[in-house]
Amino acid sequence: MMTTHTTKMLIIGSGPAGLSAAIYGARAGLEPIVVQGLQPGGQLTITTDVENYPGFRDVIQGPWLMQEMQAQAEHVGTRMLWDTIVRVDLSGPPFRAYGDGGDVYEGETLVIATGAQAKWLGVPGEQELSGKGVSACATCDGFFYRGKKVVVIGGGNTAVEEALYLTNHSQDVTLIHRRDSLRAEKILQDRLFAHPNIKVLWNKAVDHFVGGEGGLSGVALTDTVTGESSVEPTQGAFVAIGHAPATELFKGQLPVDDGGYLIVEPGTPKTAISGVFACGDVMDHTYRQAVTAAGTGCMAALDAERFVALRHHEAAQSAAY
Ligand SMILES: Cc1cc2nc3c(=O)[nH]c(=O)nc-3n(C[C@H](O)[C@H](O)[C@H](O)COP(=O)(O)OP(=O)(O)OC[C@H]3O[C@@H](n4cnc5c(N)ncnc54)[C@H](O)[C@@H]3O)c2cc1C
Repeated sequence: MMTTHTTKMLIIGSGPAGLSAAIYGARAGLEPIVVQGLQPGGQLTITTDVENYPGFRDVIQGPWLMQEMQAQAEHVGTRMLWDTIVRVDLSGPPFRAYGDGGDVYEGETLVIATGAQAKWLGVPGEQELSGKGVSACATCDGFFYRGKKVVVIGGGNTAVEEALYLTNHSQDVTLIHRRDSLRAEKILQDRLFAHPNIKVLWNKAVDHFVGGEGGLSGVALTDTVTGESSVEPTQGAFVAIGHAPATELFKGQLPVDDGGYLIVEPGTPKTAISGVFACGDVMDHTYRQAVTAAGTGCMAALDAERFVALRHHEAAQSAAY
C-alpha cells in the first residue's frame, strides 16, 4: 500500500553528503528522512582502503566508514528508508519525491545528495581489478602507488590533472589516450608536456587489464591506427574519462551546468529554488572527496534549518495578526 512520509528535511542519497546533512539536521530537530537509493552508503562502499578521511590514524575501509556514518545518523534520530526516487516535484514547499514502489516523500526542505559515478571503460579485468591496481581517483588512491610506475587513461582535463597529481608520488607516469591529441585545456597540456616524469602514449585504446600476482600487472593496448597489440606494464592504472552526476531526476526543474552538475549559489548549497539544497559530488565537479561531500552536507543542513526556522517564524507572525 502506498505510504506518504513527511518530514521537515527530506534527503535523497546516503553517501557522505546525505548522511552528514542527516546528522546535522537530526541534531537541529528537523527529523530527517534519508532515501538511500541503489547504493546505500554511496561510492565509498565500492572501495577498500581510505586513508584521507580525518579522524583515523590507521587506514580504514570505505564500507566500514559508511556503516559508522549511518549508525551515527540513526543514533541522533534519522529515519533511513530503502527506496529509489524516480520523480520529483519541486513546486513546493512541501517538495515531493516519488519512490519506485509508489511511496511519496514530502519534505519542507529537500537536500539533494545523489552523488556522481565515475565513468569506467567497461573492458575485461577492470571490475575484477578495481581496488587492486585499477582506480578512478588519483587523489584518493595515488598515495598507495608511491615510487611505482602508473598509467592514466583519458584525454580530457580530468586525465591531465590526474597525471600531474600522480607525479607527487611517482617518477614514472604514462598518459594513455586513444587519439593523437588531447581535449584538455591548453594550459594543462603545456604543464603535462613540460613535465619530465610524464610520457604520453598516443593512439592506444585499452583492450583489457592484466592481472598478476597480488593485483594489476599491466594494461593490454590496441593501437587505434595500426591495430598492433602491446602490453604496458604497470601496477596502478587510473581511469580518468569523466564522471556522471546523478541529476537526471532534476533536469527541467533545476539548472545544471555543461557537465550535468547541479548549479548552486557560489560558496553555498543553495539551488535556484528556495528550500532545495544540493551537496556533495552532485554539485561539485572539482573536489569530489568524501570530506568535501560531508562538509557541504553539513552546510545544506544548516541552511535547511534556517529556512525552516524563518518559515515557521513568518507563519507565527502572520497568525498573530
Ligand atoms: C573507487 C572510489 C574510491 C574513492 N576513494 C576515496 C577516498 O579514499 N577518499 C575520499 O575522500 N573520497 C574517495 N572517493 C570519492 C568519494 O567516494 C566521493 O567523493 C563521495 O562518496 C561523494 O559523496 P556523495 O554523498 O556526494 O555521493 P555518493 O557517495 O555518490 O552517494 C550518492 C548517494 O545517492 C543515492 N542516490 C542516487 N540516485 C538516487 C535516487 N534516484 N534515489 C535515491 N537515492 C539516490 C545513492 O544510492 C548514494 O547513496 C572514492 C570514490 C570512488 C568511486
